[in-house]
Amino acid sequence: MRETLVVGAGIAGLVVARELVLQGHRVRVLEAESRAGGQLLQKTIAGIPLDAGAEAFATRGGTVRAYLERLGLADRIIAPLDAPAWLHARTGTTVPLPAVSLLGIPAAPLAEDVVAVVGRKAAWRGMADALLPGPVGAKSATLGELVRRRMGDGILEQLVAPVVEGIHSKHPDDLPVSVAPGLVHHLLRENSLARAVARLRTDAPAGSLVAGLEGGMRMLVDTLLAELDRYGVPIEYGVRVAEVHPDRVVLAVDPDAARGSVVGIDPDLATVDPADPADDLDEPEGEVREGLVVVAAPGLVDPADGRAATRTATHLMTLVIEAGTDAARALAENPRGTGVLVARGTDVTARALTHVSAKWAWVREAAAGREVLRLSYESLPSADTARRDAELLLGVTIPETAVVAAEATTWLRAGRIEADDSIPLVGEQVSGTGLASVIDHAHRLAERLGAPGADAPTSTPAAESSADPAASTERNAS
Ligand SMILES: Cc1cc2nc3c(=O)[nH]c(=O)nc-3n(C[C@H](O)[C@H](O)[C@H](O)COP(=O)(O)OP(=O)(O)OC[C@H]3O[C@@H](n4cnc5c(N)ncnc54)[C@H](O)[C@@H]3O)c2cc1C
Repeated sequence: MRETLVVGAGIAGLVVARELVLQGHRVRVLEAESRAGGQLLQKTIAGIPLDAGAEAFATRGGTVRAYLERLGLADRIIAPLDAPAWLHARTGTTVPLPAVSLLGIPAAPLAEDVVAVVGRKAAWRGMADALLPGPVGAKSATLGELVRRRMGDGILEQLVAPVVEGIHSKHPDDLPVSVAPGLVHHLLRENSLARAVARLRTDAPAGSLVAGLEGGMRMLVDTLLAELDRYGVPIEYGVRVAEVHPDRVVLAVDPDAARGSVVGIDPDLATVDPADPADDLDEPEGEVREGLVVVAAPGLVDPADGRAATRTATHLMTLVIEAGTDAARALAENPRGTGVLVARGTDVTARALTHVSAKWAWVREAAAGREVLRLSYESLPSADTARRDAELLLGVTIPETAVVAAEATTWLRAGRIEADDSIPLVGEQVSGTGLASVIDHAHRLAERLGAPGADAPTSTPAAESSADPAASTERNAS
């Protein structure tokens, strides 16, 4: 039987490898780095094991939960602190996000917690939604257009945009309405966007939008690795694929070459400019491996128009605050929900802050009185910038001496591409970011590939993108 070569041992590669081996494929996984997991990574900072990439999953649709249950991880699934995230608004004030909202779209535009963010005039404009016929805005191409038409610019720019940017790293004008599944359907039934939000939130009450794993998302990787080991699937580490074909791959001669890598924890990687030909390393021909190829390495396959896949950097700065200090006490006593989202155009450069030790009980326990904060950035901050941003966002003085650890992690991620049918692709580059989308898509693709030798299609429609690339604080906000 011909071997199936899965390129990449991130979550997509591990899931597809497991599902294929269960269908009778003989599978081998090729991974460029010296570890599996990709954007699921645990780092020990000041002795505390912490997620340095994804830290939660969307419960929408139940896909990930069902998968975790199948892997025997049901009793490790945990809910985060059930409290709304906060917003550092354009005005410079930090306020809780409206209690009942979806992606920042309020269920009650005139509620005090909405007025506190957008002001009374914009809130009144939001009430126009209740008077407009249901179809108004229903055919909008983007989420931004939908909200603007029904509730006006104020609510869109001051409330919805910061939340959406925190979750999807894009303005609502650049996202299809499908990022909020069911929203238009309920708009047409309820004749009101606000009531559509209320309806969707009734179906998925606060706190149930995201969940995590006790001990961190790394548990998922460890469990999948144990399964693959049990099924005798070899994983070759330090093997970077340079070229893919349906029936073979060509390995890079220098496995450390950055070309093709979409994710790194080395800040220097963030300086790779995909548009600069000097950065586009010309790989000499390397060793060839033959087999049915499945690519689970975002960034390895370029868009159909021949351009190099775009790559963007996300930088996290994790701060650990010493136990017993005034800062730790103030943070523990008055957490701002699970963290704070940041509107653009304020004095804070962080895009979002997650109060990790307030959000997850297992982290609080492991931190033993210390407080853990995680801030995300578009460009690499200094530890001092992160400390000052944390002070502004949380309203607490954090002296330098109270910070016992400040650790940066940089991720380089590939943009989304349209899959053609030539080589099966899985992973966030085709499924959209986020564990829910990635796992669901990888699972469905493996099913469609079927038993070895079956005449199966090579690609499957991408699931909705629904990721929180920076911190799932934002998820609690939606
Ligand atoms: C900071 C951060 C926070 C996040 N938070 C969340 C969250 O809370 N919830 C959520 O749902 N999602 C979150 N995400 C997104 C989520 O982690 C990703 O969408 C998902 O993990 C992507 O998995 P993947 O397998 O598609 O890709 P990756 O995890 O990138 O895996 C790809 C693998 O392929 C390997 N590879 C690359 N090139 C080659 C090559 N040429 N040859 C061989 N191997 C190669 C890589 O080394 C890597 O191991 C977050 C992402 C980041 C960066």
